[in-house]
Amino acid sequence: MSSNARIQNGDRTDLQACAAEDGSTGLAAAGAVLTIDLGAIRANYRLLCERLGGGRCAAVVKADAYGLGAEKVAPALAREGCDTFFVAHLGEGIALRKILGALPEIFVLNGLPPGSEEFCAAAGLVPVLNSEAQLAAWREHASRAGKTLPAAVQVDSGMARLGMPPEEVDRVAADPHAFDGIELKLVMSHFARADEPHEASNAEQRSAFEALAQKLPPAPRALDNSPGIFLDAGRHFDLARPGCALYGINPQPGGRNPMRPVVKLEAKVIQTREVPAGTGIGYGHAAKALEPMRLATISLGYADGWHRRATSFAFFAGKRLPFVGRVSMDSIILDISALPPGSLAPGTLVELIGPHQSVDEVATQAGTIGYEVLTGFGHRFHRVYLDK
Ligand SMILES: *Cc1c(COP(=O)(O)O)cnc(C)c1O
Repeated sequence: MSSNARIQNGDRTDLQACAAEDGSTGLAAAGAVLTIDLGAIRANYRLLCERLGGGRCAAVVKADAYGLGAEKVAPALAREGCDTFFVAHLGEGIALRKILGALPEIFVLNGLPPGSEEFCAAAGLVPVLNSEAQLAAWREHASRAGKTLPAAVQVDSGMARLGMPPEEVDRVAADPHAFDGIELKLVMSHFARADEPHEASNAEQRSAFEALAQKLPPAPRALDNSPGIFLDAGRHFDLARPGCALYGINPQPGGRNPMRPVVKLEAKVIQTREVPAGTGIGYGHAAKALEPMRLATISLGYADGWHRRATSFAFFAGKRLPFVGRVSMDSIILDISALPPGSLAPGTLVELIGPHQSVDEVATQAGTIGYEVLTGFGHRFHRVYLDK
């Protein structure tokens, strides 16, 4: 029995007990543990619902629920009363339909790729039609199938990414047969700068959206993403589409984060060592010990989505442990000189994201946004789902 069979970190028990619990090698074989708090996601959903007053709240679960696992996240939200979901790609919608069953409404934001109409209809998905051409293809499919098919229409209120530009909206509005065989479920648009609450473009987009939606057949309207829900003095329309806020990312960058943290990421120590002054550390000897140092190498690297350029820290027992030298593919070297000798041993878990360091802080260190940190997580983590 070797000492690395034990994790010496507070609330965790014997590695081998963990392995036995879920019948797999689980934590024992993994380099890092990602803990996802479904209870926090549900609490965040409730908070967003409250904030919306009477408006309905959908959930955006694209990109595998922002990397956190749509298979677990979507049913947890459904149990909280969420009955409307958004994905980006048709394939995600088909997979989500299997997870959620027939009832919830599933919208596909990126619309209908040419030739995909049949798959979309067969899975009972609602395509977000982003152009006149997509509307025509869906209408023709409805006519061929002899059915009425549901659809959302996205209008471009000022982002120039997806959606019908104003001139297309005008043409569609002028065509009395544009929506033949189509049940219009939603008219939507998307903010370019909702995370900058003082930007004039938010109010401009809101008015442009209202004016464009007015021209289309009557249907519920949706504009807000997570930051949009926190814009003040705003009308929230009928349905909001939050993603990041559900997953604990701050929807008001720069302000207090009203959301509950959802993710904890801990990596295992694989080796510790003491080095004398003058030692070159890691690839390129990008760091050098100026005095004797104690180091720990942890089993997480850029292949796990930790940005190679990030200057970051791990935490253990409340102490901040700076990264030393370059992030490797599978490992990172920490300066653990601040800890009493013997604090860390192979198998000990150190915190990378958690109470001491939020997803948003990690993103800032890497020059990116929390969305990219979450969706960039690799597939090697042992995942633990909490649901309280
Ligand atoms: C991703 C996305 C959302 C969710 O945005 P968050 O900022 O994560 O809340 C909403 N609507 C559209 C169209 C999107 O692409």
